Amino acid sequence: MDCVFCKIADGEIPSDIIYEDQKVIAFNDLDPQAPIHFLVIPKKHIESLAKLDEEDKDIISHIFMVIKKITEDLNVAEDGYRIVNNTGEDGGQSVKHMHFHVLAQRSLQWPPG
Ligand code: IMP
Repeated sequence: MDCVFCKIADGEIPSDIIYEDQKVIAFNDLDPQAPIHFLVIPKKHIESLAKLDEEDKDIISHIFMVIKKITEDLNVAEDGYRIVNNTGEDGGQSVKHMHFHVLAQRSLQWPPG
């Protein structure tokens, strides 16, 4: 499958990995939109949140607990951060492998563009 995030998960494409376990991997975004900007993805190819099957639903809570741990380790939990999931075309999803952005260390505005 020609999926850049599967290739990152397989180690075929190098990335700046900050966390990894059996189910997920977290790595810094190539084009950071904040001083801290990393992505958390399931190793399994799931196209988007809209395509998530019932059998894979536990990956969502796992990803959020991983985000909690990483943000604590990076010392940004107190000041806060933003989690973003772009789903599908209108959601602005460019890589068709479900991922959660985490942005921190700057004051983020609302609403997003
Ligand atoms: P999306 O627009 O929500 O799909 O976000 C995709 C993100 O993946 C963008 O922020 C890209 O900068 C990032 N990205 C694409 N390719 C790579 C890569 O090879 N390494 C790290 N980040 C990437």
